[in-house]
Amino acid sequence: MNEERLMVIKIGGSVLSDVYSYPRVVDKIEGLFLNEEKIPFIVVSAMKGFTDVLLNVSKGDIKMLSQIEQLYMDAAIQIGGSGTISRVQRELFLLRKIAVDNNISLDIREDLILSFGERISKILLAEAMRQKDLPVLELDACNTIVTNAVHGNAKINYEKTLKNLIHIKEEVLRNNTIPVIEGFIGCSDNGEITTLGRGGSDYTATTIAALLAIKNVYLFTDVDGVYSADPKLVSSPIIVRSMDYSEGVEAAKYGVKRFNIKMFEPLIKYYPSTIYVGNESRFGTKIQKASNATGSKPKIIAYKNLYNRSLIAIIGNNVDRAKLIHKASLALSEINVSFSAAILPPASPSVVLLFNDKLDAQTINTVHDALIGSE
Ligand code: ASP
Ligand code: MG
Repeated sequence: MNEERLMVIKIGGSVLSDVYSYPRVVDKIEGLFLNEEKIPFIVVSAMKGFTDVLLNVSKGDIKMLSQIEQLYMDAAIQIGGSGTISRVQRELFLLRKIAVDNNISLDIREDLILSFGERISKILLAEAMRQKDLPVLELDACNTIVTNAVHGNAKINYEKTLKNLIHIKEEVLRNNTIPVIEGFIGCSDNGEITTLGRGGSDYTATTIAALLAIKNVYLFTDVDGVYSADPKLVSSPIIVRSMDYSEGVEAAKYGVKRFNIKMFEPLIKYYPSTIYVGNESRFGTKIQKASNATGSKPKIIAYKNLYNRSLIAIIGNNVDRAKLIHKASLALSEINVSFSAAILPPASPSVVLLFNDKLDAQTINTVHDALIGSE
């Protein structure tokens, strides 16, 4: 079937870390995904760290602008092509104009400023693809992804977005072009730019896949998959091989992999695409509607500071939650730590342990190693 030729690939900011990244990523996509049969629908994030930088600009840190301008111009020069530099220059000119304009309402202004991360990133990726003679169909998220007007955390209007996507799909299949679109941004009905909340590119990717009934979504990142714990906290986390949507939603709630909480909604509502998380060496994590993993171990340990207190969420379906609490408390008692309460959130695949203090890395490692262990 024609539709089966399509797949969605989201390029995460983590792999867009410097001015050389764009041509490099295009090579990787070419090597991994491009052949006569397949057409990737490419969703692109902002360059690594840039959404945070732009957030500071929107809060008044105008000094950052020259650094941004320098970096993006370097990236444009690196990619080459006559159009690239002038297109990027134009975006940077607009960005500066908006950043110094105090007459725009704050929420609208913040979304406008944040949108430049993805807008410029898309221009750079599309130009890098053209340089390699790939048949790019460059899309504008503002004309494609229709959202409500909740600035900073907009929700996609699926019905209206589907209408736009159907035309795009027809064009892509007819002309064998590769669509490239900005993640994270859309436009409300009155034409104002909105953003979808942090990590929103994943939400753009799953929405496109679900609405067009596309089977596979690849979230291209700098690690081999979703880790069983934050590698900054736990010394030997393992790659979670398989998860279901409910575990994904739970992981998103606790900030795992900075998943956007809304990303599973279109998949639950419209079409159950499978998500693969990883990179060119390995797509180690598969997230499906229902995973057939029956293991008794949980999948992920997520740690969160709550002012002076903290929590550990133990995430995983098909586990005996009472046993899990017992096991955690035994392991913790050996290092003289105890939790103040264990919560079993109803209808959620998790157990939450509450602590009266912040935890050190040793404690988090202890819980991880006792409940999940090594590969
Ligand atoms: N650039 C946005 C963020 O940093 C969206 C994304 O990367 O998914 O949150
Ligand atoms: Mg992300």
